[in-house]
Amino acid sequence: MISKKILVTGGAGFLGSHLCERLLNRGDEVLCVDNLFTGTKQNILHLLSNPRFEFMRHDVTFPLYVEVDEIYNLACPASPVHYQFDPVQTTKTSVMGAINMLGLAKRVKAKILQASTSEVYGDPEIHPQIESYKGSVNPIGIRACYDEGKRCAETLFFDYERQHKVQIKVMRIFNTYGPRMHPNDGRVVSNFILQALRGEDITIYGEGRQTRSFCYVDDLISGMIALMDSREGFSGPVNIGNPNEFSMLELAQNIIELTESRSKLIFMPLPQDDPKQRQPDISLAKKELGWSPTIELREGLEKTIAYFRELV
Ligand code: NAD
Ligand code: UDP
Ligand code: UDP
Repeated sequence: MISKKILVTGGAGFLGSHLCERLLNRGDEVLCVDNLFTGTKQNILHLLSNPRFEFMRHDVTFPLYVEVDEIYNLACPASPVHYQFDPVQTTKTSVMGAINMLGLAKRVKAKILQASTSEVYGDPEIHPQIESYKGSVNPIGIRACYDEGKRCAETLFFDYERQHKVQIKVMRIFNTYGPRMHPNDGRVVSNFILQALRGEDITIYGEGRQTRSFCYVDDLISGMIALMDSREGFSGPVNIGNPNEFSMLELAQNIIELTESRSKLIFMPLPQDDPKQRQPDISLAKKELGWSPTIELREGLEKTIAYFRELV
């Protein structure tokens, strides 16, 4: 197989660093572009000595002229604390980043994959969410810079496909966890694990009955690559996530057990616009990509806990 030259934007982030690693292991050449807003060099330190890996510090809201065969567009802060830090920059990253990467894909005739999100469904009225569901997003809320930015990016992808015949793949990612998640981004899995390891109170927002479905990072990356490699003409959008649903109370209980922690639960106010439920319908991914997740929550949590133990 001839090695491909692949651009990964957001490659120094949580998901991006795992993706770069997998592509290198497959034999591809990887150009990792990242402005290091939430990503770190630490995440890609182990890749820097590989001659097929290159890191470029660059902000995707500015044009980028490189020659590549495929583009994975992951650049965008993903957690509320980070995307709400500079909400205007968040929308710019999604929208202008998409325009620049699509312009690049058009010029070099590269296939391009967009890391979209289950947040395009907002606080969903149907459950589980299928790709044809149009979503319930508050356009002026504090999550809108992320949700609407990602929705607009999807629009751009499908318009570049219709108008300019760019080969696109749109992936809607559901909650993903694993090693190299940010310790301080306030996400539930990292919060609970760190609190449990440090013996601090576990902070449950609301009553803890809201549910999420958590996908382990290795499963997610397999789905992402399967989508990029899927048949010509299949553009998505396609949900990638793990449909096993847990309440935040159940998650806390699992983490307490696995860390053998004596932490207690405390209850705090629910953030604004916090979705009550979220669960992917992955029938389309199964049918089109032959993909489904294989790693159970407890197995994935064990690996993630091992990573955070090293950090603490
Ligand atoms: P992350 O914050 O670890 O990674 C995002 C990366 O993008 C970081 O390395 C950051 O420095 C970089 N970045 C941000 N703005 C940039 C800009 N303007 N120019 C260049 N680089 C920029 O988050 P992640 O969890 O790895 O998320 C990766 C992608 O997947 C994001 O697009 C996110 O929206 C999407 N996603 C993630 C999840 C999840 O559960 N982790 C869920 C849904 C969607
Ligand atoms: N662009 C880029 N790299 C390229 C080609 C284009 O960053 O290799 C950017 C370019 O700056 C432009 C955007 O992508 O603003 C959209 O490009 P397109 O060709 O679709 O539109 P136009 O140049 O006509 O605005
Ligand atoms: N959450 C919680 N305690 C925390 C952090 C988050 O109970 O310390 C809740 C949060 O209110 C939400 C769920 O866990 O209902 C998932 O939150 P996260 O930010 O990880 O993901 P998202 O809301 O984007 O799915």
